[in-house]
Amino acid sequence: MNVRRGDTVLVLAGKDQGKRGTVDRVEKTKRGFGVVIQGINMAKRHQRARSRTQAGGIIDLPVPLHISNVQVVCPRCDRPTRIGHQTLESGGVVRVCKRCGEQIEVTTK
Ligand SMILES: [Zn+2]
Repeated sequence: MNVRRGDTVLVLAGKDQGKRGTVDRVEKTKRGFGVVIQGINMAKRHQRARSRTQAGGIIDLPVPLHISNVQVVCPRCDRPTRIGHQTLESGGVVRVCKRCGEQIEVTTK
């Protein structure tokens, strides 16, 4: 998994192509992994009032983008990049930017 919650990503496809956003959620879908990005790929849903506390109407919901349609933006070089993996002496694995080699985030196995 190369994309994680909190990453800044560039949108490669869809109506918000070219925009950047922060990953809110990564979720498993029928077609693989989808990423929900704040303010990206919003869709209007017409919703019926389900209860007295929840009013009906039109609400904006972010629709997950397929993970292949986003690219992680490196926090150091500020450019969309491919992600590499590096194994540390401690045995942990870190994601690294393929452009500048900077560690993007420390992850555990
Ligand atoms: Zn970089």
